[in-house]
Amino acid sequence: MGNNVLYIEDNPDNMMLVKRALESRGYLLLEAGNGLTGVATAEQQDVDLILLDINLPDIDGYEVARRIRASEKTSLAYVPIIAITANALKGDAEKALSAGCDVYMSKPINIRELWARVEAFVPAPNPR
Ligand code: MN
Repeated sequence: MGNNVLYIEDNPDNMMLVKRALESRGYLLLEAGNGLTGVATAEQQDVDLILLDINLPDIDGYEVARRIRASEKTSLAYVPIIAITANALKGDAEKALSAGCDVYMSKPINIRELWARVEAFVPAPNPR
């Protein structure tokens, strides 16, 4: 098992925050700035976990999750997906789970929660 994390996120500030946080623990971050690029990256690269923003400029995160789960690349049926929801709208979490995400977390991103959620699926190469 590798340590490649794909983050599908259009906000550069969040991308940088997560990149720094995960690389400090030894993960390798693959970046995708929109949903279609994210699906393509998941299909073309070895990905051990996916962090998925819901509000994206092209297809939304729910559709990204559905396409990943339906991919002909069979490992994508099981790759962990952590949805990152932008607000507390009732139903966001349930929609993320029903689209195929395993868990969800809310923005703003809390780094300690992020580490814990990621490590629950993929052990940190550089644990503290
Ligand atoms: Mn977004």
